[in-house]
This record gives sequence, structure tokens and C-alpha cells, in this order.
Amino acid sequence: MSVAIGIVGCAGRMGRMVIQEVMATQSCVVAGGTEAGGEAIGKDLGTLVGADPLGIHVGDDPKALFEVSDAVIDFTVPAATRLHAQAASATGTAYVVGTTGLADDDQAEVIAAGKSAPVVQASNFSVGVNLLFALTKQVAATLDTDYDIEVLEMHHRHKVDAPSGTALSIGESAAAGRGVSLKDVARYAREGQTGARPSGEIGFATMRGGGVIGDHTAMFANEVERLELTHKAGSRGIFAGGAVRAALWLQGKDPGLYSMSDVLGLD
Ligand code: NAD
Repeated sequence: MSVAIGIVGCAGRMGRMVIQEVMATQSCVVAGGTEAGGEAIGKDLGTLVGADPLGIHVGDDPKALFEVSDAVIDFTVPAATRLHAQAASATGTAYVVGTTGLADDDQAEVIAAGKSAPVVQASNFSVGVNLLFALTKQVAATLDTDYDIEVLEMHHRHKVDAPSGTALSIGESAAAGRGVSLKDVARYAREGQTGARPSGEIGFATMRGGGVIGDHTAMFANEVERLELTHKAGSRGIFAGGAVRAALWLQGKDPGLYSMSDVLGLD
């Protein structure tokens, strides 16, 4: 039996990649897709990605999509993710959340969805980045605070949140390795007379430009050496592939909020 996958935000950069990934994966089929409005409404999902028509058209009713899907994949915007999380709660449909930049009250809806539906949330669905999280935690646990930790990231010019969700997850991994809370030690930006760098700080540097899909580095620097763990995404396909893998993994799972580490068996 094929797993029917719904794609909210199906005309976005990631939404289109997910349509292609589902079409290319034997064990699943496209259940449908939604957009908030605009010219994509009513278009055929296959045509939208330059493939043969699927006979399924872009809609604008997320609740209806959750009802007919075995899993729904969400790469949209925080305000939409909030509504989609409520639809997952109401229907119990497996839900995969990739949207970043969620405020605390948006995140609360995702956590609530995990009480009645199986949910995977990840700031990054690539296998390599999830290994980077694990390695960052391990290195931070091994090196003492003589090593300053900085997280560098670069993304394309269209990205609207900063630092990236992935950079924040790297920061969380480093903080976990050190046994501290990121919110107590994070420095998200520097400008002007910042003073010397406090020991134990975890710093972030954000770059935006061109078409960069996503570069991330966790840097550990003391006076005499520097260790850098770097991941560079070469295609959005790695995120779409991971999201579809997560959607398939969720089938038959109990309600709960799972991570990509759970999906990949990394912990
Ligand atoms: P995008 O702007 O190209 O796509 C977002 C789409 O969502 C748009 O088509 C928009 O019209 C649609 N949308 C907005 N409101 C909607 C609603 N109410 N219902 C349905 N659709 C709605 O952006 P993108 O580059 O595809 O990224 C989307 C999100 O995914 C961002 O938060 C980005 O940071 C995140 N992202 C996460 C990962 C990951 O691995 N977790 C990877 C890449 C991007």
C-alpha cells in the first residue's frame, strides 16, 4: 500500500522539491497540496514541477488535505505552520515540520500536535547535518571552555529568518555537549563596541547572498588551534529526501514529537 503524502506550501522552493521526491519514491504517492492563495491555486501538482499532470490540483483547505493524507509535509511560514499543527492535532495525521523561525507560541502548537499525532520536526532534514549536530555535541563535550565556539552560516538572499534554524540547532548541540542552556550563553550578533569575548559564549555569524542553499560551520578555537566542522548543502533534494523518509518512518508510530535523530537512529 502506498503512503499518501500531502504537501502544504507545495508551490514553494521546498514544496516543489517534496512533490518531485514523492513522485520519485515508489512507496508513496502525492495526496494533494495546498497554498495560501495566489496563482498556484488550481494548478496540477505534476505540471507545477515540470512533470506529467497528476490529475491533482493545488487547493487552499489544509484540514481537507490532512483528512485524506497518511502524512503531511510542511515547509511554509510560521503563521501557516501554526494552522497546520492545529489540523494535525484535530485529525491525528502524521505530520512532518520543516518550517524554521517559529516563535514560542507557534512552537507550542507543534508540541501540542505531538500529543495526538506522530510528528517529526527538524530544522534540517539532511543526514549530513544531523551527523554534524551529533559531532558538535561530542566535540563540545570533549573540549573545555578554553575553546571558543562560533557557529557560522550562509544562505540564499531570499531567506527570511536568522540565524538559520540549523545554526540554532548546532548551537543547541554545542550547549548540550557543555551541559549549559543555549539561551544563557548565546550571542546572536555583534556590532560596535562589543567588549572582549566572554569565556563560554556560543556566538553566531550570519551571511546572506546569492543562491547558497545552506552552509554551516561549527568552529572551536583556542589560542593555538582551530577545529571546524562544516556541512554544505548541494541541493534542496537532501531536505526533501529526509522529509519523505520521516513521513514514511512515522507510519504506525504512536503520537509524539520525534526528531530526525530518531528517524535516522543516530541517538
Ligand atoms: P518558500 O517561500 O519558497 O516557500 C514557502 C511556501 O509556503 C510558499 O509557496 C508560500 O506561498 C507557502 N505558504 C505560505 N502560507 C501558506 C499557507 N497558509 N498555506 C499553504 N502554503 C502557504 O520558502 P522555502 O525556501 O521553501 O522554505 C520554507 C521554510 O522551510 C522556511 O522556513 C525555511 O527556512 C524552511 N526550510 C527548512 C529546511 C529543513 O531541512 N528543515 C530546509 C529548507 C528550508
